[in-house]
Formats: sequence, C-alpha cells, structure tokens
Amino acid sequence: MRKGKFLPLLLAAALLLSACGNGGSSGESASTASESSGSAEASAAETAAAETSTAETAAAEASAAGEVASATDEVFAMDTYMTVTCYGDQCEEAVAAAIAEIERLDALLSVGEEDSEVALINANGSGTLSEDTLIMVQESLELWETTGGAFDITIYPLMELWGFTTGDFAVPDEEELQAMLALSGSENLTLDEESGLLTVGSGQGIDLGGIAKGYTSGRIMEIFEEYGIVSGMVSLGGNVQCYKTKTDGSLWRVGIQNPLEADDSSSFVGIVSVADQAVITSGGYERYFVDEETGETYHHILDPDTGYPAESGLISVTVVSDNGMLADGLSTACFVMGLEESTSYWQEYGEAFDLILMTEEGDVYVTEGIADSFTSDFTVNLIERED
Ligand code: ADP
Ligand code: MG
Repeated sequence: MRKGKFLPLLLAAALLLSACGNGGSSGESASTASESSGSAEASAAETAAAETSTAETAAAEASAAGEVASATDEVFAMDTYMTVTCYGDQCEEAVAAAIAEIERLDALLSVGEEDSEVALINANGSGTLSEDTLIMVQESLELWETTGGAFDITIYPLMELWGFTTGDFAVPDEEELQAMLALSGSENLTLDEESGLLTVGSGQGIDLGGIAKGYTSGRIMEIFEEYGIVSGMVSLGGNVQCYKTKTDGSLWRVGIQNPLEADDSSSFVGIVSVADQAVITSGGYERYFVDEETGETYHHILDPDTGYPAESGLISVTVVSDNGMLADGLSTACFVMGLEESTSYWQEYGEAFDLILMTEEGDVYVTEGIADSFTSDFTVNLIERED
C-alpha cells in the first residue's frame, strides 16, 4: 500500500461576487451585527473563509443599498468553512439559529464522530433515523435509483479504504477494493419508511457527505423564513444558497470557480445570477491527494461502479435549484455520470434544476433553463430540452 500526501486544497467551488471587504480575524466563530449602511461590518464574513476563497462580502454590497440590519457569522463544520449572512430586524437571531442548526446537523451526520447518528448506524448495522436523516436517506435512495446508481451512499467503506474519512490517504490494494466494492450498493439497504429503521447490508456503511451540505443550506432558508429575513445567503464550503434577492432587489451573482485554474480564485467558469436558489458545485479539485510514488491524483468523488475516483470527463458540475439537497446530491451524481448521461438525466428530470458543466477539455455546457442568467468568458454550449 502506498501512502499519499494530502494537499488540502479547500478551494471554494463557487463564491459570491461583490465589492471587496476587509479581511477580518479568523476564529471559530466571529460574529457581527450592524445597523448601518457601512461595509466594514461585512468583513467578518470573510475571515478564515477568505483564505479558502469562500470570501463573502455580500454584506458590504447589499447593506450599501439601505438601512437594513445585517448579521453575519461563520463556523467550521462538515470539514469546511461556512458563512451565514442575512438582513432583517431579527438578523442576529436568525444567524445564531442558523449556526446552531449547522452544528446540530454536523453532530448528527459526521461519520468521524463516534456517537453521531450515522456513525452509530455504521457501527451497529442498523438504527432508527431521526427526521432530518430520514429525509436525506430517502432523497439519496431516490437519486440512487434515478441516476442508475451514480449517487450511492453505501460508498462509505470505500471512502474509508481510500483514507478520505481519516486523512490517512492511500491507494487501496486492488483485492481489498474489489471485495469492498462487491459489498457496496444501495440495493442492500432496507428502509422502513414508517418507523425510520434503516438496516444496512453486511459490511456496509453509509456516508451522507454528498448531500448533507445542501440539506443544511436548505434548512437555513427555512430558518430565514421563520425570522422574517428580507435577504440572505449561506456559503458552505463554496456551496451557495441565496434567500430572496439582495437587499436592493438585484440578483445574487455567484461565481463558479474555474477548476483549470483552481489556485486563482478570480478565474471563473462563469457567473450565474439568481434569487432563491442553491448553486452547488462538485469538482475533483476540491479534495484530493497525490500518490507520492506515481504522482497520480485521486479525488473524493467515487464512481460506485469501479470504487475509484470518478473519471467521467467532467471536471466541474454546478447544479442550480431551489432545492439545496437535490442540488447537492445531483452535483455529485452528475460528476460521476459525465456529460452525456447528465444531459439525458436533465432532459428527463430537469424541471427542478439546471446544470453548468465543464469538461476536462475546458468546454462549458449549460442547460436551457439557466442559460440567460449565466455569463462566461468561455464559449458556452447550450443543452436543450428534447421535443
Ligand atoms: P463536496 O462535499 O466536496 O462539496 P460533493 O457534494 O460532491 O462535494 O460530495 C462529495 C462527498 O460525497 C464525498 O466526500 C463523499 O462523502 C460523498 N460521495 C463520494 N462519492 C459519492 C457517490 N458516488 N455517491 C454519493 N456520495 C458520494
Ligand atoms: Mg454533492
């Protein structure tokens, strides 16, 4: 077995475009609230996130538009920096509730925390799912079915084998990989929808990492609603979800990181303008390790058919949808499926989402529904509906 070296390239897949803010201090949780039209208050949103290119200075831009109270906070959870920003009379309460929700879900889903719900299921082979986990598992099973197995939460033992769960990266022994691959597959999961009892097959475990952040950002939109927020956004490691428009009524502009120039945070596949939408990107450049002996790069999205990192020809998949959970699951699935399969998938199921794809050749494709809201320096190929 060969050990690899991890390059923690925690680059954001997408970032919100706006005027520059001032870098703040970094820390677990740096919160600001303001009742002003100034921009300095916005800078806390940058802090540590700025180092990972998830800089959010949305507050600066939007608050310049009017006298609306704003609050922002950030937290490190689910292995990434997360920023929550919103506007409204109860913005501070909303941000606090959002951060608490992120932490609650992280504790529920983390495969690394011994007593998380998911870890207990993996240890015991079964367990009764709580409301949130049940929703995610149901969606995952639906995606597994519709994507022909491209999205498969039973990849957990394979993720472990590659060391993605611990950071102890290694190219697996071929025999071991094949043995584990034979045990994987969501067809061996049994879910009793009534009781919420999930039983996994022999040797199996589940990993909700492909869908958790999108579910979380969706939950935060509900929290914004509860607190009467007038405008807001979250960025969970480059996965952005926007609530309503910016405070001046204009659309949020979300830049999609160009994976061909992954270390240049100002290089974009393109920019998408949205309101009330999640913009969620999967790419192999986000988390990977390099095998020291061969120089080969291995990333964290596995092809459930082979047990190896997916090589579908796509290097970036962005899903735009008002459903964060769906967008997250699909970004992972389409990354596995590749251009052709993703195109036919969209043609069949694409009412609820749109796609922005980049191939390893640097070709950019965008589905019809979002084409008018997308600008790019690349030549953009249009994916149209079938008649
Ligand atoms: P990120 O979480 O880095 O933004 P993704 O949303 O694409 O990227 O999720 C990648 C995560 O999804 C992996 O870390 C792993 O937990 C999980 N995963 C990897 N491959 C698959 C797959 N084929 N189906 C479902 N989940 C997957
Ligand atoms: Mg995903």
